[in-house]
Amino acid sequence: MNNYTPMIKQYLEIKEKNRDSILFFRLGDFYEMFFEDAIIASKELEIVLTQRDCGGGEKCPMCGVPYHVSDVYISKLVAKGYKVAICEQLEDPRKAKGLVKRDIIRIVTPGTIIDDSVSEKGDNNYLMSIYIDEKNIGISYCDVLEGIINFTKLRFSNINDVRKNIENEISRINPSEIVINENKIIHNEIIENLSASNNLLFTIVDKLSIEDSIAIIQKKLNIDVEKTDYKEKSYIGAIASILNYIYIYQEERLQHLNNINFYEVDKFLNIDSHTIVNLEIQKNLFTGNKKGSLFDVLNKTNTSMGSRLLHNFLEMPLMEKNKILERQLIVEKIFENKKLQELLTSSLKDIYDLDRIIGKLSYGRANGRDLIALKLSIEKIPTIIKDLKDANDTILVKLAKDIDSLEDIYKLINESIVDEPPLTITEGNLIKIGFNSELDNIRNNKVIGKQKLIEYEKNEKEKNSIKNLKIVFNKKLGYFIDVTKGNLKNVPDYYIRKQTLTNSERFTTEELENIQNLILSSENEIFDKEYEIFNNIRDIILQNVERVKDTSNILSYLDVFNSLAKVAYSNDYVKPTINNIGIIDIVGGRHPVVEQSIGRSNFISNNVNIGSGFNNIQIITGPNMSGKSTYLRQVAILVIMAQIGSFVPANSANISIVDKIFTRIGASDNLYKGESTFMVEMNEVSNIITNATKDSLLILDEVGRGTSTFDGLSIAWAIIEHISTKIKAKTLFATHYHELTELENKLDNVINLQVQIEEYKNEIIFLRKIIKGKTDKSYGIEVARLAGLPKSLTDRAKTILKNIESKNEDSNLNIFENIIEEAQMDIEDVKRDEFIESLTKVDINSLSPIEALTLLDEFIEKAKDL
Ligand code: ADP
Repeated sequence: MNNYTPMIKQYLEIKEKNRDSILFFRLGDFYEMFFEDAIIASKELEIVLTQRDCGGGEKCPMCGVPYHVSDVYISKLVAKGYKVAICEQLEDPRKAKGLVKRDIIRIVTPGTIIDDSVSEKGDNNYLMSIYIDEKNIGISYCDVLEGIINFTKLRFSNINDVRKNIENEISRINPSEIVINENKIIHNEIIENLSASNNLLFTIVDKLSIEDSIAIIQKKLNIDVEKTDYKEKSYIGAIASILNYIYIYQEERLQHLNNINFYEVDKFLNIDSHTIVNLEIQKNLFTGNKKGSLFDVLNKTNTSMGSRLLHNFLEMPLMEKNKILERQLIVEKIFENKKLQELLTSSLKDIYDLDRIIGKLSYGRANGRDLIALKLSIEKIPTIIKDLKDANDTILVKLAKDIDSLEDIYKLINESIVDEPPLTITEGNLIKIGFNSELDNIRNNKVIGKQKLIEYEKNEKEKNSIKNLKIVFNKKLGYFIDVTKGNLKNVPDYYIRKQTLTNSERFTTEELENIQNLILSSENEIFDKEYEIFNNIRDIILQNVERVKDTSNILSYLDVFNSLAKVAYSNDYVKPTINNIGIIDIVGGRHPVVEQSIGRSNFISNNVNIGSGFNNIQIITGPNMSGKSTYLRQVAILVIMAQIGSFVPANSANISIVDKIFTRIGASDNLYKGESTFMVEMNEVSNIITNATKDSLLILDEVGRGTSTFDGLSIAWAIIEHISTKIKAKTLFATHYHELTELENKLDNVINLQVQIEEYKNEIIFLRKIIKGKTDKSYGIEVARLAGLPKSLTDRAKTILKNIESKNEDSNLNIFENIIEEAQMDIEDVKRDEFIESLTKVDINSLSPIEALTLLDEFIEKAKDL
């Protein structure tokens, strides 16, 4: 360290305090990175790695990016999961004595970045905080541009609970970064594991005391915790930690970040992380894109706010019947009015992302164009209000009345900001003429200066007889008089030479300097004044931030309702009846995503009737590729659609509210934890068995497939027995094990369904209809043939199958019955049975007393073993 140059020493000192960030160290017009940071950044950003003498003859790795384009590089690193610490020069290098003072002014992280490149994607960018206490996990999350801190608490009884709960919330919220407090419950190793498996940046922060938490919330949100219902440590710990993190380097209070929103996990349909993925709610399972997901089908929103809200609807479907009906009713009103759908669409599509504009204003990062975007958005509101009122429906009229048309804000922006403002707010051309008289006066000075300049040029031309004399401006020299070589003889004494070029000379004069001062100083004054006015306008809007947020909120709901209505209208969905008595009865149901991908006319609709007691558990058999999975998922998806307030693809539907949906689908490729497929499968089943209730919907597809046939069959059998007798949840169980269909006769709430197929000249045809009954053949070989295996191979397979089947028949062995019976007997039972049998076989009359005593002794020894 001693040999390093003073600047490198300064670098290392600052780096030491920010070891988890890539340090952007400002040197003149560049941000430089050194040592390990330089090696990482040069690779990630694909920029050249060089070296720099860092003292004592040593060279250190270095790379850099120009500061004026640094945002792009910062975003790139942050998108890859790094934190970037921006270290600025805190004094003017020209005026500094010795080493320039430098320090961190901002840390950019995946969850706090507010660059346009991130926000323009239209998704929420959430920072999440986890505060683990002795008994509870406090969770809070916030999109820093939106400014609401959502929070809740999850209870736990053991370490597995903690992990499961956290994973579920992570997958529901889908944050881009997590802050977690130091705690004794989950070790760093688990955090690393969670971080790796979710590809998320975790930062461990000090555990805040209750007093500190309360103080932080008071200071940053202006909320007196004592006066709220949320005094529990886990809540306020989670809220305060997230605030602390957002405000690390943000001195001023953010006006828009002023709200907390409590949510209770139990009040919403609980869809665990696997289910969100398996049912392709937000993303397609194979491509990882939105296309081919339920979200994609339902998303005909026209604003970014609406699209984010729809995400939110799908993450948190409702459980309260009245709330579902409220949403349904508005969707229905718009559904019935095609013209209104079109009118709303045409207005909404011109509305910008109001939440983001407000966020950017609050962060001091908005420019004139953002204000114009706000103005153009507000301009549409009166039309929306009018169209809703014209629809002549009490509910829509009420909705219209709740919208604040923000006329004052419109007027303010309209009078002040030019229609096409520049990107910067510090270089003028922003404020309209006539808005501020002081500004107009300064502008006038500039005009006067410019006029003087024109006159001066004209006079000098005439006075000195230099016809082509010109007054020109450039950034380096300012204003100067340009005289070509041929005219130099006419140049008067008072011209002061500034520069000589090949064909001309450049001069200034005392008077020209005076005019220049007038022009430039008024120009600077204009810049300052315009900036000041802009900030005033910004402050006025921020004082009304709640009103803008409320309007934005109503518009986003309206956008989602309109989207659901349009989708329902164009795809022929129906309004489901919602019940609380456990019955799901769907006639002619379709899978909304599959029907779009294969075409509506190619999709075969199906009925569903489940939850009437006798049919709570439905075992569905049928060959591979016959449509079992699609049917299963369809049921779950229609329930979710109904619970967000949407219409559903069916001829008619009566849907019971369910509390949780669990899915266990196929052999998962979820192998990241290094667990076997079967282990993953059993973990998931165990989670389902522990958490499902009688009001839950379970989708179990091919459970048991991850192990040998007999093991798998036995486990599947036992699972169905357990659900049938203990949990009693509505369950759809698709399986290859046709032996499971036996359960229909053994358990009173199990029925069999099958996918209808037709055999025609040794071929099978899938009819995709789900009907009562069971399949007792797997058709595996026929499916293999359909998939293109050579005929010689499938013929051979048929012969082998016949052999195996005939052997089984010969020995008259019902393998599965026996297997199940055996599996239920454990070794203790066998010993006890043998013992009792040997006791009952004793013929006392034939024993001598000695023999009897010896036998008794033997029995006592055996009994000790039991
Ligand atoms: P399984 O689970 O029985 O192997 P899937 O549900 O995966 O079968 O269905 C296989 C394919 O059949 C799907 O990709 C889909 O294209 C088509 N399919 C499924 N159900 C239907 C249906 N009801 N109507 C039309 N095509 C369907």
